[in-house]
Amino acid sequence: MTARVLIVDDIEANVKLLEARLTVEYFETLTARSGKEALEICANEAPDVVLLDVMMPGMDGFEVCRRLKADPKTHYIPVIMVTALDQPSDRVQGLEAGADDFLTKPVDDIALITRVKNLSRLKTLTDEMLMRASTSEQMGVGADGPGGDAQAGLGGRVLLVEDNARSAERIMETLCREQKVELQRDPQQAILMLPEGDYDLLVVSLSLAETDGLRLCSQVRSLDRTRHLPILILTEPGEDARLLRGLDMGVNDYLVRPIEKNELLARVRTQVKRKRYSDRLRSRLEESVEMAITDPLTGLYNRRYMETHLKTLFDEAVQRGKPLSMMVADIDYFKSVNDTHGHDAGDEVLKEFAVRMRKNTRGIDMACRLGGEEFVVMMPDTDLAKAYMVGERLRQCIAALPFELPGGSQIKVTASVGVASLEGLEDSPEAILKRADQALYCAKRDGRNRVVADAA
Ligand code: GH3
Ligand code: MG
Ligand code: MG
Repeated sequence: MTARVLIVDDIEANVKLLEARLTVEYFETLTARSGKEALEICANEAPDVVLLDVMMPGMDGFEVCRRLKADPKTHYIPVIMVTALDQPSDRVQGLEAGADDFLTKPVDDIALITRVKNLSRLKTLTDEMLMRASTSEQMGVGADGPGGDAQAGLGGRVLLVEDNARSAERIMETLCREQKVELQRDPQQAILMLPEGDYDLLVVSLSLAETDGLRLCSQVRSLDRTRHLPILILTEPGEDARLLRGLDMGVNDYLVRPIEKNELLARVRTQVKRKRYSDRLRSRLEESVEMAITDPLTGLYNRRYMETHLKTLFDEAVQRGKPLSMMVADIDYFKSVNDTHGHDAGDEVLKEFAVRMRKNTRGIDMACRLGGEEFVVMMPDTDLAKAYMVGERLRQCIAALPFELPGGSQIKVTASVGVASLEGLEDSPEAILKRADQALYCAKRDGRNRVVADAA
């Protein structure tokens, strides 16, 4: 991952040091020597993360941070405050100014890289959300940008794994102000709870008496259901080797004991935000893919998808010299169902028709709703005789049992079916579909409730 990091410090040597360390990790860097310059760069160059020195002549870091967070154009750029002293009061002020995290001088290497990585990942997700929100707005559908509690990273479900009662109590007391926290002393239990719990973050102590907390982390990373769950570990000072192992296996962030309250809150917020943004992006993606290819009433594939997929199936069949058949089915006198029982009853019939159709087709067959009361099944590896049999089975399955209507009454429904197959090298997907349609027309003309195979 590469990200652009703006380093702001009035002392040249500090800038150079941070620049060198970030460059080694392949981050791109920008530098500013004053608050004013930092604001200019943020407005024009859109960095992904800002490393901001607190003590600077003129405008100090707090003021720079306040201004960045107040401007909608720079509001989403994460800010890491670099404080000279290990002063809790600096952190409180930094948080009030809207800072996302802290580093203390002299800046520790692991801390620097971990902070920058976490916040630049969050920035990537935020950018994506903002971009989609603006696309949705342009398309006239509801905007779905980052907002509300998700934006603030509050109210997340956090599981804390800690067997030391006093430490657990202190952490709970702080964290419960902003998050919904559950405590679990036993890592074995935790691994059972996590896949079911819809958690936003796992916090694990590395000082557990009975087990190695890192083992729990590695289990969480290897399970499908918890792979994306953010993990924050609590380490002792001087435990760098274990910390690095943790970060290597995909632990997202850490806190060194004694745990500073504001640091704990800030880091948990970042992880909760990130989890929510990526969840939302993932489900949006699945939703939009589904909307693009399925018919909302029946859940079958829609016409657009059928047309695209038919080409693929056709090419494959031609290439391998395999048969390919299409079935077009149309409900008989469907208009009178609507006219007699109402449109909702008609919809119910369409849904039930789709259910029966799916039951009568194999996994590799693809059932689609072309529109109205017209359906298509594409059947790879199926010749005309077999396709006729499948059509006949469907016809019987529709006619055999009455359809239930919303009011509790029942009606008899029948369908007519036309089938056609791939014929020789001159054939095309459109031509097969057309022949199936002509066969369907014959079935209608000859009295309905029947299957006709194309005689080409
Ligand atoms: P045929 O046996 O010749 O196929 O007669 P039909 O009445 O089934 O065919 P026609 O094409 O005349 O009428 C189809 C009807 O399907 C008309 C339309 O209102 C109805 N329809 C189309 N889409 C939907 C839908 O989504 N829901 C409902 N309830 N009705 C629909
Ligand atoms: Mg019809
Ligand atoms: Mg029709």
